[in-house]
Amino acid sequence: MKVVIVGGGIGGLTAAVAFHQRGWQVEVLERAPAFTEIGAGISLQPNGLRALDTLGLGTPLRSGGPADPPAGIRCANGRWLIRNDIDGLKRRFGQWVTVHRAALVDLLRAAVPAQALRAGTEVREVRTDGTVRHSGGTSSADLVVGADGVHSATRRSLWPHIPGPRYVGYTTWRFLTPPQPLEGSVETWGRGERFGHVPMPDGRVYCYALANAPIGSRTHLDRLRERFAHWHGPIPGLLHRADEEAVLQHDTYELPELPAYVAGKVALLGDAAHAMTPNLGQGACQALEDAVTLAEAVDTLNVGAGLRAYDRVRRPRTQTIARRSRQAGAPAHWRSPPLTALRDAALPLLPRALLSRAVTDAYTWTP
Ligand SMILES: Cc1cc2nc3c(=O)[nH]c(=O)nc-3n(C[C@H](O)[C@H](O)[C@H](O)COP(=O)(O)OP(=O)(O)OC[C@H]3O[C@@H](n4cnc5c(N)ncnc54)[C@H](O)[C@@H]3O)c2cc1C
Repeated sequence: MKVVIVGGGIGGLTAAVAFHQRGWQVEVLERAPAFTEIGAGISLQPNGLRALDTLGLGTPLRSGGPADPPAGIRCANGRWLIRNDIDGLKRRFGQWVTVHRAALVDLLRAAVPAQALRAGTEVREVRTDGTVRHSGGTSSADLVVGADGVHSATRRSLWPHIPGPRYVGYTTWRFLTPPQPLEGSVETWGRGERFGHVPMPDGRVYCYALANAPIGSRTHLDRLRERFAHWHGPIPGLLHRADEEAVLQHDTYELPELPAYVAGKVALLGDAAHAMTPNLGQGACQALEDAVTLAEAVDTLNVGAGLRAYDRVRRPRTQTIARRSRQAGAPAHWRSPPLTALRDAALPLLPRALLSRAVTDAYTWTP
């Protein structure tokens, strides 16, 4: 059996490993000239790690250094709005890991035969009969996996009339600082803007910031430093250690809910199927779950029945998590002073059980 995978990001490469381990012939078509990822960190939560465990890849990631779950949310002056019970979270759900994105992609890529990987190959059209037209010719397979991200050509080919991704109103900056001692991963909320920092196992700090902005606007590091200059430590210091060249800025998109993730011999996974806001840090974790679930379903059933089972299981779960992610981040982007004052007064009073509701289902997934 042969699978053609469109897109060699985290989702596509995970699918490639899963199908290869099941004895399928794999062909991965990647538009970029090389299989790599942007220079930023990524947090893998317990469910994402469990998905990688099914491929034997969770342990190498954990051995690079475990990470604590997020310590909580503070406001700009440093007062805690939500303080997580870190040990309780670990006991209940398992381990977290933060890695460089490129390290995760390298690990996945190394588990796929080199001849299966075709970089510099842009897919133009995918048909439900398993035919893929691309810049290097045409491929065909028993199954095609569209793992080509939020602006997926696979999705456009199969569902041309479905509305495309929607800009959610905020832009994101990401960068890594040189190593420095820092405890815990924290997110801080202001009015229409927030900043997060996550220590990496090698001592570097993965930082991200989000702010309400018109689509396509671009900001220099100096302006970013000014924006957060009066926020609690270590935020201004982290921004001062950032390197202008290494700051990445992207607008944030999410995908309207699709009526199906499968058509004919084709399945969508990851951001191509359910690009979501980064608020719960679940986008890649869901892509990992998708990939191992899809491989198991079509390999143990047959392609038709496996695709139906995949759609039945994955669509409700990922669409629910995407909705919760949108809701969880919304109060950080309120601008009104009375509303944000109310938010800052109310959040510390909310019962932990209510707060953990949004993430419990996400973290407890098992293959
Ligand atoms: C700021 C931010 C922080 C995040 N933090 C986290 C986090 O901590 N934890 C987490 O789990 N998730 C996080 N996410 C989400 C996560 O990054 C994505 O969900 C994940 O990378 C999606 O992987 P993917 O493989 O589906 O898509 P992508 O990573 O977009 O990969 C798609 C691949 O397809 C290729 N491609 C596209 N079009 C074509 C074509 N026509 N032909 C061939 N190839 C093509 C692209 O070049 C790319 O390599 C975050 C997202 C953002 C924006």
